[in-house]
Amino acid sequence: MFTKILIANRGEIAARVITTARRMGIATVAVHSEADAGALHVALADEAVLIGPSPPADSYLRGDRIIAAALQTGAEAIHPGYGFLSENPEFVEAVQAAGLLFIGPPAAAIRAMGLKDAAKALMERAGVPVVPGYHGANQDPAFLAARAAEIGYPVLIKARAGGGGKGMRRVDDPAEFAAALEGAAREAQAAFGDPACLVEKYITRPRHIEIQVFGDAQGNVVHLFERDCSLQRRHQKVIEEAPAPGMPPEVRAAMGQAAVEAARAIGYQGAGTVEFIVDGAPRPDGFWFMEMNTRLQVEHPVSEAITGLDFVELQLRIAAGDPLLFRQEDLAITGHAVEARIYAEDVGRGFLPATGRLRHLGLPVATAFNRGPLRIDAGVRQGDEISPWYDPMIAKVIAHGPDRAAALRQLSTALEACQIAGCTTNVAFLAALTRHEGFAAGAVDTGLIARDLAALTAPRTLPPEALALAALAALDLIDPPATADPWDQRSGWRSWGTGAAHVTLDHAGGPLALRVVPLGARQFHVTGPGLDLQIAVLDHRAGTLRYAVEGHQATGQLVQGAGRISLFLQGQDHDFTPVDPLDVAAHDPDGGHAVLAPMPGRVLAVQTQAGAKVTKGTALLVLEAMKMEHVLTAPRDGIVAEVLVAEGDQVTDGTILVELGAKDG
Ligand code: ADP
Ligand code: ADP
Ligand code: MG
Repeated sequence: MFTKILIANRGEIAARVITTARRMGIATVAVHSEADAGALHVALADEAVLIGPSPPADSYLRGDRIIAAALQTGAEAIHPGYGFLSENPEFVEAVQAAGLLFIGPPAAAIRAMGLKDAAKALMERAGVPVVPGYHGANQDPAFLAARAAEIGYPVLIKARAGGGGKGMRRVDDPAEFAAALEGAAREAQAAFGDPACLVEKYITRPRHIEIQVFGDAQGNVVHLFERDCSLQRRHQKVIEEAPAPGMPPEVRAAMGQAAVEAARAIGYQGAGTVEFIVDGAPRPDGFWFMEMNTRLQVEHPVSEAITGLDFVELQLRIAAGDPLLFRQEDLAITGHAVEARIYAEDVGRGFLPATGRLRHLGLPVATAFNRGPLRIDAGVRQGDEISPWYDPMIAKVIAHGPDRAAALRQLSTALEACQIAGCTTNVAFLAALTRHEGFAAGAVDTGLIARDLAALTAPRTLPPEALALAALAALDLIDPPATADPWDQRSGWRSWGTGAAHVTLDHAGGPLALRVVPLGARQFHVTGPGLDLQIAVLDHRAGTLRYAVEGHQATGQLVQGAGRISLFLQGQDHDFTPVDPLDVAAHDPDGGHAVLAPMPGRVLAVQTQAGAKVTKGTALLVLEAMKMEHVLTAPRDGIVAEVLVAEGDQVTDGTILVELGAKDG
């Protein structure tokens, strides 16, 4: 076994690999960019080496610098994690040429599966069923449109170099084919430097079921059952589980066998995943190969939970030359596991990636990077910055229970206990998903989220006690005045029990003017639009609030700072910003309004012009950020006063893109 390894990655996966290495007595070297000098994975490793500036192309994708760091620190092997260089065969060859070991498959196996078109052709020859479609070399738009017509609509255009759901377009109508192909090719060129696409039959009620495989250097290949990753948005996984709901044992065996054959066909070694698409309920003849990911997958913890194995340990053992210590028949499934991916993103605005500093990160008690009934693998700590440079994943929450219902219940409770302030996250959306009836019944398909998006992202009603507590926090009334000090004055209050105080709070629904009258020992009467409430603050320590409304006591969490007030009550978070009353006009949702760039990016297309009459939701422009295209829409009805950017412009976070005038000019 190795004595020291280098991890060529960042975030949760780097931290996860380091944890297993440490348990096995292996020393670890982290690499990091300038932005990540203080990151979690750097702090966890025994040693860390700076490899370059923040853009991935200058750091985490610099194979030469990573190899130099390994040689300099005396690491014997390199673990690539996922993403970045993990599926780059040239990197594998460079690692080996430097006399180091790559903890992953041989370069030839990665190459064979690297492009979806070549992989499909190879799998066809190996007798593995593939999704019907065109995966040849001809990229002429008219030729591809003709293939699409033959395949029959709807079709799916896919970048052959694609990954992470990028460069993919569903087309229902032949008239839309040309534009969709152009969009997919453009996104593919930007993300992968390769615009080539394939065209597939679009499976209408698809389920994404993938098989985990492991191969060793001795030629043994086993599968570790399936994961269902059908809960997706924009073809990206949101919630994953193992085993797949309603999976008959004979279909599991058939899919497992097909995956093992796929791995054998390319001399696979290490951890890999063979992804299949399934049409409706799993049948022995109803699954087709989509692609193979020649690396550890983001969602591997659900398979670890049901098999009791540590996949990183297996990867390290295999890379060190050890044979697999079990055969297929030794493996069994224990219970059920579900994972949810917490991302910094704005669900209500088309899942736009979000950035910000994590002012508060309160996660429920769980195991980290190890199996357990509740496991949380986080890549960041409180105070860390979610920067625009990298994948905005905050943490993965994994629940394992004796059956699916138990695991789901635990996941739901855990998500409700997650308290994150400082950037917008998808936690409430994930929690809503865990309560979705169809999902609970196991009726999953990749269209579920899109179909029920409105219900899953419905703005929550603001509970009156949240508003009242926020008003008290803004006026500095949560804690009693230090009565020992007769000169104590706060927020213009002469003494308790007299007068009323006013505050205006801005929140997702717009500004609200509130009035607070103290009634006595930590008792208050709070009034405002639609609000008339008496509330008592019973206790407040370490951010935990105990309060009572009409004799009903409840507990919440208060996080205050940097001009923001965040309240976590009954599994929901509420954010407020106290505003200067003189400034309220600027917050008027019907007044003059600017559409700002939510994050740094490039303007791909401007779809409006000055004078255009728009309604709430009208597309204004397309911004490319985090290598994906995001459509920015009008926040309300109005007339476009001015467009301040042009196609191709590079914009920073907060740049004014479009000025919106009043509703009727
Ligand atoms: P799939 O490609 O089948 O969706 P995953 O869901 O495991 O597989 O990963 C999503 C994609 O995003 C993968 O291509 C992975 O390499 C990439 N990815 C996810 N998270 C990160 C990250 N933190 N850093 C770099 N790449 C990432
Ligand atoms: P990526 O490399 O981006 O992960 P995949 O080929 O694995 O690309 O596809 C990603 C997702 O897109 C799948 O999980 C599935 O939801 C959807 N998808 C892929 N192929 C099809 C298809 N032929 N029909 C319907 N949906 C598909
Ligand atoms: Mg995939």
